Amino acid sequence: MAVSRIKVLADDVVNRIAAGEVVERPASVVKELVENSIDAGARRIEVDLVAGGRSLVKVSDDGHGMSEDEALLAIERHATSKLVSAEDLDRISTLGFRGEALPSVAAVSRFGLTSCADPETGGVELRIEGGSVIGVQPCVRGRGTTIEVADLFFNTPARRKFLHAPETELRHAQDAVMAISLARLDLSLAMRHGGRTLLEAPPATDLDQRVRDVFKLKAAVQCHRFDLDAGSMRAHGVVALGRGSGRPRLTVLVNGRWVKDRLLVGAIYRVLRNAGAGFGGARVALLLDVPATQLDVNVHPAKTEVRFARAGAVFALVERAVRSAVTASHGTVAVNKIYEAGADEPRRGPSVAEPEPSANAARGPSLFSHPVYSPAPQPRGLTDTPAPRLAQPTPKTHRSGARAGEADTPFGRLIGQYRQSFLLLEDDHGLVIVDQHVAHERVLYDRILRQLGGERAPSQRLLTPILVDLGEALTGALSRVVELLDKVGIEADAFGPETVRISALPPDLAPHDGEEIVRELLDRATELDGVPDQVAHGLVEDLAASLSCRAAVKVNHRLVDAAQRRLLADLAAADDPYRCPHGRPIILRLGQEEMERRLGRR
Ligand code: ADP
Ligand code: MG
Repeated sequence: MAVSRIKVLADDVVNRIAAGEVVERPASVVKELVENSIDAGARRIEVDLVAGGRSLVKVSDDGHGMSEDEALLAIERHATSKLVSAEDLDRISTLGFRGEALPSVAAVSRFGLTSCADPETGGVELRIEGGSVIGVQPCVRGRGTTIEVADLFFNTPARRKFLHAPETELRHAQDAVMAISLARLDLSLAMRHGGRTLLEAPPATDLDQRVRDVFKLKAAVQCHRFDLDAGSMRAHGVVALGRGSGRPRLTVLVNGRWVKDRLLVGAIYRVLRNAGAGFGGARVALLLDVPATQLDVNVHPAKTEVRFARAGAVFALVERAVRSAVTASHGTVAVNKIYEAGADEPRRGPSVAEPEPSANAARGPSLFSHPVYSPAPQPRGLTDTPAPRLAQPTPKTHRSGARAGEADTPFGRLIGQYRQSFLLLEDDHGLVIVDQHVAHERVLYDRILRQLGGERAPSQRLLTPILVDLGEALTGALSRVVELLDKVGIEADAFGPETVRISALPPDLAPHDGEEIVRELLDRATELDGVPDQVAHGLVEDLAASLSCRAAVKVNHRLVDAAQRRLLADLAAADDPYRCPHGRPIILRLGQEEMERRLGRR
C-alpha cells in the first residue's frame, strides 16, 4: 500500500501559518492584545515597547483576567470565550472572535502571560517559546492580565527580515494605540517606549479632547466635528485642519474596530480632494457605527477590513458627514469656486479643468494650447433662459468686437491682482485667472527638485536654533532624512532622544514652516513601507511638495507689479505651468465666447 501523500499539518505548523496572516508586525500584536484587553472589560491598558516592539511588546490590563485553565485554553487554536455558535458570527459585538491571536503570536515569539481572575485564589503564569509551553506556575498579582511578546519572529527568520527599523515599527504601533483610544474614550491608556512615556490618555468625555491629546495637536489647529445619522447608521468624528501639504492622515473605526477599509478611505479622500486648498496635512478621525447584522468583520485575517451589507448607503453617509465638517471649515476662495459660480452644475476640484481634448482646446499660441488650459465646455440648458443667439456661433468669431490688449507677459496682458490672491490677465481668447499661491508653488517645486538633484540651495543660519519636540519615533528617523534636508537648505540634528534641532533654513522660509516641514518629512519617513529606493523617491517628492507649499506666497498677499510679472515669467518656464504637482489647476480662463454667451451677446 502506498503511503498517502496528503497529511494533516501538525498544530505548531498550522499556528505558524496563521501567524503569518494575523501577525504582520509589532503593531498587529499591539492591536490584538489591546483588543483582547478591551474585550475583557479593562478600564486601564498600558502598552510598553522596546525597540519599536521588535524586542518586546507588553500589554497589561485590569480586565476580568483568566483562571489557569482558561489561560491554558486561550493559547489553543480556536479557543475563544466570545463565540459559541455559528449564529453568533452574524452579530459579533466583541473585537476578537476567532481565537487565533494568542496561539498565532505565541507560535512566533517568546511569550509570557500572567493573569488573575480572582486575587483570592491567585494568578497563573505561562511561558511559551515558539508555540511550546515551557512553564506553568502560580503567581501573585491583582486582577487582570499581562502579556509579554519578546523577540517577535525569532523562529521565522524570513518574516523577521521584513520588519522595519524600530522607529517605523513604533510609528505603526502608535497608530494602532491612537486609533483604539478614539474608539473608547472611557479607557485610560498609556504607551511607553523603552520606559519613556509616549502617550498618556486619561478617560475623556469628548472626542475633540481625545483627538487633541493623542495626536498632540497644537491649540491653534482647528478641529471640526461632524456627526450624521442615516437610519440605524451613524458617522461621526473630527477633521483637524492641516496647515501644510502632507498627505491627510486618516483613522477609521467601524463599530469601535480599527480598520483600513478601502471604501471608507476612498470616501474621505474624495471629499478632501474635492475641497481643494487647505487640506494638506489634515487629520481625519471617522467613527462609523452600523448595526452588527449589516456588517461582516470576518473577511480579513487581521480583521482590518470589513464588508457592509449596504455599502452604497455607507459611502454616501460618510461622504456627507465628512463634507459637512469640511464645509464648516471653509474660509478661503478656491479657484474652482469662481468657476462654480458661473457653472450650471457645480463641479468641483480637479474635474474643473480635466483634460478636454475638444476643438476649442487647441487654438491659440503654443503656451496656451495645453488641453487643461481651457475650461471644459458648459453643460447646456440647465439654467434660466437660454441666451439669445443671433447666429450659430463659429469658433473664433468675436462678435462683440472686443479686442485684447498687447501681451506683456507670457500669459497675455497683465490687468492686475484680484483680491490680493489671483492675477488677472487678458489674452486673445478671454480673461485669464492665475492662482498666485499655486503658481508659485509650482515654480518652487521644480526648483526644489533641482536642488534635491544637486543644485546648490541657499541657506541661512538661525540666530537661535529651533528646538522641536517630535517624540522618539520621529526623532529616531532623523538620520534617514538629514541629507535630504541639507540639500534644500535645512540643517537639522538630533538634540536628545526626542528633540530635533534646526539651525539653518532657506532664507524665504519662516521658522514655523521649517519646523512643520521637518515634522512632516519625518512623519512620512516612519510611515512609508517598501523597498528603500521607492521610499527614498517618495520622500523626495514629499519634501518638495511640503516645502514648496509652505514657501509659496499665500492668498491675501499683495504682490507689486514687478513681483506679479516675475511670477508669471517663472511660471511660464515651469515643467507644467497649468497644474500644480498634485493636479490642481493653476490657470483658469473665462473664454470670450462663454462671457458673451452669458452676457446675452450670443
Ligand atoms: P479571540 O480574541 O478571538 O477570542 P484570542 O486568541 O485573542 O482570541 O484570545 C483567546 C481567548 O483568551 C479570548 O477569547 C479570551 O477569553 C482570553 N483572553 C485573551 N486575552 C485576554 C485578556 N487580556 N484578559 C482576559 N482574557 C483574555
Ligand atoms: Mg483576540
